[in-house]
This record gives sequence, structure tokens and C-alpha cells, in this order.
Amino acid sequence: MAPVIALVFVLAGIIIFALVNFLQVFWSIFDYFLGDRRNTNWLIKPLRSEYKDIIQNKFSFYQQLGFRQRKTFEKRLQKFIDQKNFEPKGELKEVTPEMKALIGASAIQVTFGLPTIYLEHFTDIYIYPEPYFSNITGHYHKGEANSTGILVLTWDNFVKGYLDPNDGRNLGLHEMAHALKIEDYTRNSEFSFLDSKLISGFTRETRLEAIRINDGEPSIFRAYAATNDHEFFAVVIENFFERPEEFKVSNLRLYQLTCQLLNQDPLDYRAYLV
Ligand SMILES: [Zn+2]
Repeated sequence: MAPVIALVFVLAGIIIFALVNFLQVFWSIFDYFLGDRRNTNWLIKPLRSEYKDIIQNKFSFYQQLGFRQRKTFEKRLQKFIDQKNFEPKGELKEVTPEMKALIGASAIQVTFGLPTIYLEHFTDIYIYPEPYFSNITGHYHKGEANSTGILVLTWDNFVKGYLDPNDGRNLGLHEMAHALKIEDYTRNSEFSFLDSKLISGFTRETRLEAIRINDGEPSIFRAYAATNDHEFFAVVIENFFERPEEFKVSNLRLYQLTCQLLNQDPLDYRAYLV
């Protein structure tokens, strides 16, 4: 009886091995012919292990997702990384897999409820090791989302943003929020994906918050948010992910509008995401 069982196991092993190889060949052919036209999640390549190890160990947003949501996150992250040109700037010698994984993960965190959005306009991501001098503004910058389609980040500040996950300050989320707004009004295949009525309601609420800040009243949002509508949007996104409980308590209407705009709720991942 034992040799028969052993034979069954060996045969089953051979069949599984053949099947895996067949699927890999099938995928390569599929990938070759479809190229950049791939647009649905199930067709996207799995996340490379060098990136997966990093987000498994270091990215709390990913860590709190359920199994299916993690798989979706992984595929979306690989697609995002594949689509972008990461460039080292200043004294930075090379862009490491960790930089690609975490910066990409920051983008997927913000767009996770918007499955077709990959910030298409932003083809280039420049990474400086620390704040860089801008000849245009005459100041040192920590990052920017440029309307010409370049996203600039400083690695030291990007890391700092995630080190304290609850202080409402996060450079990556801030710049991805700017990029999301720019993407929304850039005429390409991702044009106008944010609901304009929700944006209007959102701006009404943030302007009321700005008045409160300028009057010296307490607000969960730092004073910098009141600079203009774009900065307020970016600061709201930082707080939405970093301290959702306090945000919800301090301004329920604005919190709900943010949930609807991004199609996700950090306090209940089952509420919006599939
Ligand atoms: Zn900003």
C-alpha cells in the first residue's frame, strides 16, 4: 500500500510542477502581447519579493488589510513601480528597492479605494536624500508634486513621516494628495475621477476650518493647512490616515466627505473596499 501512496504523491507533485510552469509561460505570452494595455487587477504581475518583504515589515497600512485586500495592494504596487521612472537626485547615489516599495506604497495607500488610478501624469519620481534648494522659490523644499508631472521627495523626511504614524504629519501622503488633485484635473485617461460635488462640499468645510484656524480656535489641522485649498486638502489626507479617530470626532462632515472622495475609511476597511 505504501508504494502506491508514494506514487500518488510523486505524480501529484509532477502535475503541480507542470501546471505552475505552464501558468508562468502562459503569463509571459499574455504579458508580451498585452503590454501597457493591461488595465485590470487580475492581469497585473504579482509583487516582486524584494518589495513584498519591505511592505510586510514596514508598512502599517498594508499590515492591517485583510488577505484579499493585501493581494490587491501588492498587484497595484507592482504596477505603480513598473510605470514610474525613479531617479536619484542631489547626493543620492541610487534608488533602492526600499525607496521604490515605500514611496509606491504611499501612492497606493491614498489611491487604494480608486482602483483605476495610478497617478498616470506623474511619470517621474525624483528622490533627494534631504531638503533641496529650489531656484524658482529661493527656498529649501522637502517635496513637491509638480504640475509638469514630476513628483519630488526627500528621503529623510519621507521616512520621518511614517516613523510616527499618528502625528498627522506625513510627507509621502502630503505629496501624494497634491498629486491626486493635479491628476484629477489633468486631461488624460485618469481625468476627472473625483466627484465634483464632493470636492465642492469638501472645500466648503476646509474653508470653515481655515477661518477657525485664522481666528486662533483649536483645530486638529496644523496652521499651515490654512495656506490655501490645495494645502488644506493635503493636510486633511495626512490626518485622515494618521489619526482618523480624532479627525472624525473633530469634524464628522469633513471626515465623511474624505471617506467618500477616496472611497475608503481608515476606521473600517470593510466599509468601502472590496
Ligand atoms: Zn503641500
